[in-house]
Amino acid sequence: MKALVYTANEEMTYREEPEPVAGHGDALIAIESVGICGSDMHAYLGHDERRVPPLILGHEAVGTVVEGTSAGQRVVLNPLITCGVCDECLGGRQNLCASRDLIGMYRAGAFAEKIAIPEQNLIPVPEGMPGEHAALTEPGATGLHAVLLAERVVSRPLSESRALVIGAGSVGLLTALILRDKGVEEIVVAETNALRRELVEQHCDFKLLDPTQEKPQEQYFDCVFDAVGGAVTREQAVIATRSGGVIVHIGLMDNKGSMDVRAMTLREITFIGTYTYTPVDLRATLAKLNSGALGSLGWIEQRPLDAGAAAFAELLQGKCAAPKVVLSTGKA
Ligand SMILES: [Zn+2]
Ligand SMILES: [Zn+2]
Repeated sequence: MKALVYTANEEMTYREEPEPVAGHGDALIAIESVGICGSDMHAYLGHDERRVPPLILGHEAVGTVVEGTSAGQRVVLNPLITCGVCDECLGGRQNLCASRDLIGMYRAGAFAEKIAIPEQNLIPVPEGMPGEHAALTEPGATGLHAVLLAERVVSRPLSESRALVIGAGSVGLLTALILRDKGVEEIVVAETNALRRELVEQHCDFKLLDPTQEKPQEQYFDCVFDAVGGAVTREQAVIATRSGGVIVHIGLMDNKGSMDVRAMTLREITFIGTYTYTPVDLRATLAKLNSGALGSLGWIEQRPLDAGAAAFAELLQGKCAAPKVVLSTGKA
């Protein structure tokens, strides 16, 4: 089969790879569409020691079962493979399973024509749903999970809250769209890439700002979602959060700098780390995307899988406006 392989730092190679073999309890999937994630970019730059080349990246995938109990079914993949028997898994917090694995990390990912994955990781796609929309399930579920964690601790209902989302990549943007669906009226999205700000402005009605030029209002937001997760954005998040507010930390850009823990203490700011999603978050997100609750999704850009290397290069150079590039094998 053909696959887009991460072969070295800043090098993606479209080449022939051995066909995956479905082991016991696995299904074999013919991939249709797969999104490029910020974490794939991170790996491509050589910044993720868990992803060692040569490796097929990609985990935001949609395809059709070609071998398995549900052959012929179109499915979204839950890329998180968990043990199913630990306290976390049994408690419905599979994202915290200590032996979790992710496709495109220690095992082959979905930038390929085929992938083998456990049957229990398949979620049926609603009839007629475009593949590029269904491919947003994984980043969308990351946003939904973050919003649900925030909802537990905000002092007023979310719909009465003011929200700041830092970063308009797909996770940030989908977080903002989920907040809008929850009834949040005042949503500000901070994004440094001018091309991306322009594109998002065309498709969504959030207030966008360039945080390098204009700082978000200080001590103003009930909840701040940091979908970047860098030293600078964490610092901004503390400044922008009002007393009694909540910071939800999603991004994993770096582990540098320090947060003003004294200010956070005196202003009773809650800090929540959030990682991925549960299987239920994925199902709920797929349904939301399909219902139109998250808008038209016209900001997705589709490209063929064999042109994936160029997409990675453009994303790196900041030349890509789209918050999400979805690669397609051309096989629906
Ligand atoms: Zn992802
Ligand atoms: Zn487990």
